[in-house]
Amino acid sequence: MLRDGLALLISEAELRSGVARLARQIDQDYATTGLVLVCLLKGATVFTADLLRALRAEVHRIEFVRASSYGSGTTSSGRVSITGALPAEHIAGQHVLAVDDIADTGHTCVAVAEYINSLAPASLRYCTLLDKPERRQADVRYDYVGFTIPNHFVVGYGMDFDERYRGLPAVYYFPDR
Ligand code: 5GP
Ligand code: MG
Repeated sequence: MLRDGLALLISEAELRSGVARLARQIDQDYATTGLVLVCLLKGATVFTADLLRALRAEVHRIEFVRASSYGSGTTSSGRVSITGALPAEHIAGQHVLAVDDIADTGHTCVAVAEYINSLAPASLRYCTLLDKPERRQADVRYDYVGFTIPNHFVVGYGMDFDERYRGLPAVYYFPDR
């Protein structure tokens, strides 16, 4: 147990090896083409920064987009809004990898994929650090998954609860939620 009743779910060492493993898979798939990373703000910033440094495939560019699902507290409503337009000329014809923190209902992935595909990339794949498959509502497939986790609300390593805890270096959960 840590402060505020948080319990450790994935340690810093486990995160490092998980990110390295994802990077090796992505390196293989983009070895000849390189890729453009699209980081989903804000939760995927820490993961993206680590993944970017672990990749050996050529990253032509990194872009950012904000996806928020409106809901209260720790539940998502299924309505996803995307803000902060991607420069269309930086996506068109590129091999794009969307980088997200956590896959939950899947609605974010659907909305982000629809948006990025509207900008005519050469290809689009989706990477998520964490996956909570028990909670899935949308029919989606994630191309790269770091860790499959039980249905806990998690924080740390970029992920927040009401903007708190993003700076924690590992992933924690609230055992009582
Ligand atoms: P989805 O659209 O797949 O339901 O939701 C994904 C988004 O909901 C994630 O990108 C994240 O922003 C938020 N989310 C889902 N589960 C959690 C969680 O356990 N902790 C945090 N901090 N955010 C979550
Ligand atoms: Mg998110």
